[in-house]
This record gives sequence, C-alpha cells and structure tokens, in this order.
Amino acid sequence: MQPIITLRNVTKQFERNALPPFVALQNITLDILPEKFVSIVGPSGCGKSTTLSLVSGLAQPTTGEISVNGKAVSDVQRNMGFIFQRDALLPWKTVLQNVELGLRFRGRNSRETREASERWIKRVGLSGFERSYPYQLSGGMRKRVALAQTLVYDPPIILMDEPFSALDVQTRNLMENDLLDIWQQNRKTVIFITHDLEEAISLSDEVIVMTTAPGRVKSCYPIDLPRPRNVTEVRFDPHFGAIYEKIWNDLRDEVVISYQKSLHA
Ligand code: ADP
Ligand code: MG
Repeated sequence: MQPIITLRNVTKQFERNALPPFVALQNITLDILPEKFVSIVGPSGCGKSTTLSLVSGLAQPTTGEISVNGKAVSDVQRNMGFIFQRDALLPWKTVLQNVELGLRFRGRNSRETREASERWIKRVGLSGFERSYPYQLSGGMRKRVALAQTLVYDPPIILMDEPFSALDVQTRNLMENDLLDIWQQNRKTVIFITHDLEEAISLSDEVIVMTTAPGRVKSCYPIDLPRPRNVTEVRFDPHFGAIYEKIWNDLRDEVVISYQKSLHA
C-alpha cells in the first residue's frame, strides 16, 4: 500500500534573536498509510503540534520534504480536517450555522449544505441543539460540533491535536468511542496527537513516540488490538498492558529528560 502522507528528512528550525536557531524537529522521516489511525506521543514541547502544522501546509519545513498523495505540500491543504484542543466555533453562530461553514466555504448549494449538516449533527448526538449557540453547550458538546464541522465536508485526512485533553475522563471516553465508531464506518486517515499513552493505544493502529526536543521519531509501534474497540474495555485486555509497558519504557525516558530540562531552563 502506498503511503498517503510522507515526511522525508524533515527539519524545522525557528529563528531566535541573537541566539542560534531553535531546532524543533530534526530529520523526521515517516510514512502514514491511508485509512490508518496513527497517534503521535511525546513530552510537551517535542514538536508534535509543529509536525501537524507542517503536514497541513500552515508552516513550511526548513529542510526536507512532505507530500500528501504523492504531491509536495507547498500550501495550506484544503482537503484536510483539523480538530484542536481549543475548538474553533464562531460564538455568534448557532450549532447548525457553525457546521454549515465548511460546506459554504466550499461553495456547496444551500440545500445540500443544510441536509448534510443536519445529518452530521444527528450523527454526533446533538439533535435538538441545532439552534443553540456555543456558549450554551458543555465542553464535550462543543467537541461534537467541531467533529461534525469537520466530518461534514468529508476530508480524507483528519489532523487532531490533543482534541479531548480538556474534557473530563467520562466525557472523553464517550467522545473517543464515538470517534472510533465514526472512523470505523467512514474510514479516514487520522493523525492524532496526544500526551496520553492510554488514549493513543486504545484508539490507534500505530503509535509513534517522539523524542524530547529536538523532536525526532524514536520508535513506531503497531497496535494489533482487535477492532471494533471500546476504549474503556480494551484497557482491560491483557495484551493492552503488555503494549503499554513496552511503549512506556520508551516514552518515560523522554518525559524524564524533558522534565529535567524544564527544571534547569
Ligand atoms: P508540542 O506540541 O509537542 O508540545 P510544539 O510543536 O508546540 O510542541 O513546539 C515545539 C517547540 O518549538 C517548542 O519548544 C516551542 O516553543 C517551539 N515553537 C513552536 N512554534 C514556534 C514558533 N512559531 N516560533 C518559535 N518557537 C516555536
Ligand atoms: Mg502541542
């Protein structure tokens, strides 16, 4: 199978005043296969968000190449969905209007837009809230709107940057299960960033561990737990524990280094 996203020797530096440039990512090479759910874990500041912004075309690598569907990324990718920790809902628009935005930007007619938006609002469990405003919703509900807002325009690739990390554990597990259900029925390539290893394993086909800054790919682990999965139950699978232990051994060293650096910063 041909990868849908490739990174080849990607380095990203940020210029600093009167200091040598800061190397955020160093020589990252990665292949992401289509329709896979891939998570990236690593200590805070290791370059996870930077990696996503390069894949999305929002930022350019200093050296190296990134391609999507075999084409070099040189501009913002319109066919990718993004879901961030902070949702990007417009507070003055209703749930329905927020979900409709993506299709309106893409010039779809209003009837098609309305129907698809209503369908996705229902699919994410928000029937009855079409005319509510974001401030009237809980954090979990706003995440559901963000999901609908992305899925409605059917992007083949979705980039998610710690999307659920601000939610309480129960809401988060519900969202994770819903995300997996939707993904199972509607296969997309997902790159999911998280600092939570349990979340990464329970959702993914593959977990990539990054080193502390400068971010490099330390290791990649295939996750061969059976699907469909329930994120809460899969954690009791004895194989889950074995996978967790193996990856944590890798990740722990990076977390410790990062923590020590932060003490001496
Ligand atoms: P993560 O998402 O893994 O926590 P980031 O990708 O946000 O890490 O950041 C990686 C490193 O690059 C951090 O040290 C951060 O301060 C630095 N960085 C990120 N964006 C910029 C920028 N635009 N200018 C300067 N430094 C940046
Ligand atoms: Mg980040």
